[in-house]
Amino acid sequence: MPADAPDPTARCARPGAWAVALLMCAGCVVADEPGATGARRAPDAAAPADDAGPGARPPPTPDAAPTLRDPVTIELMPAVPFDDEGRATVRFDVPPDLRAVTLSADGPAGAMMVFEAVEDGAGQRWIRPDPGPIDDADRAALVFPGPFLSPNRAAWGEGVASALLPNNPGVQPVGGPWRAVLRVDPPSAAPVDVYAQIERGPVPDRGRLDLHFHFTQASDWRSASVAMDDEFRTMLNVATVLLRDVGVEVGAVTFTDVPVVTYSVSVQVELPRLLALSDFDSGVSVFVVGRIEDAVGGPLAGISGAIPASGGLPGTGANGIAIARPFADGQALGATLAHEIGHALGLFHTVEANPAYGDQLDDTLPGEGGHRNVMYPTAGEEGRRFSRQQGVIMRRGRAVDGLE
Ligand SMILES: [Zn+2]
Repeated sequence: MPADAPDPTARCARPGAWAVALLMCAGCVVADEPGATGARRAPDAAAPADDAGPGARPPPTPDAAPTLRDPVTIELMPAVPFDDEGRATVRFDVPPDLRAVTLSADGPAGAMMVFEAVEDGAGQRWIRPDPGPIDDADRAALVFPGPFLSPNRAAWGEGVASALLPNNPGVQPVGGPWRAVLRVDPPSAAPVDVYAQIERGPVPDRGRLDLHFHFTQASDWRSASVAMDDEFRTMLNVATVLLRDVGVEVGAVTFTDVPVVTYSVSVQVELPRLLALSDFDSGVSVFVVGRIEDAVGGPLAGISGAIPASGGLPGTGANGIAIARPFADGQALGATLAHEIGHALGLFHTVEANPAYGDQLDDTLPGEGGHRNVMYPTAGEEGRRFSRQQGVIMRRGRAVDGLE
């Protein structure tokens, strides 16, 4: 395989993936079968009406469209203490016209964290430790099986926790007094800051997403010249078209050089430090690195600091995504970028490597049938798309602002 070809065995990981190797390591790419059911024709990344592709014109500009700043309330619950079992409870009020509630917390390095329980104003327990039968296989595969298997799935992270509600059509939370329980394992005495970002109003049909690229010194991309780089333009164009297909318009695109010389980034150690370098509290911060390694040194095409990992916690390991540039060409990089943005905006894989765990959406295909979806977990195939429900979820959170 040429050094710059997409590696079909490389994959994306979500937070905590190193701790659930059985969940993530069995992935493989399914051959592209003509006529496969459920597949929609991929948007044409080569010739969209307003962008003739790499080399023709610069990427989207900050002035591409007017933005209506969506109403959002940010509740900070500072220095929340944990009990002896590693649980911290927070309470906050949610207005009746909620669009989305994003919970996030930045905790001690080396500890696994998750929002173990979330209850809305009517007492509906959308995230809970006991969502139903949990067997030994679940306990072996999932660090916190209850939240992951809850009606509103929540993932864990190392040193960070986040959750987006609602994140599937079966969840209809209501306003009023909410309660959330944050869990840390091993138990820690150090208090943490917990944030609840509450967005109001209907989900917009179209929204604007800003992207903040950060270039490490692992590649030759630099802020002063990257806008004219063909591979970068192809990457951004592919991701832009995939997102636009479901109503997410790429808005401002910013470039920042960061003084990091490490070529390879491990998920456990370097990644949180890297993502913490972003000062942006809007959109999605994207770090371009040389290589991303899982806990056993395997290559990852990209990774998200959390699900969701967009805005709200600048200076933490939950503020963005990373992609490995030398891993692929611009086309494959664009698909990876779109996939990681999907995680950052709250999307899970259509299916995990363990096929027992599919997503919670009605319009994605289960198992290997989902291989034409952007959120299929392995890289290496073109022609993927987001589903309509995935688009709705991505437009819910604070990172995407509604457009008229
Ligand atoms: Zn992924």
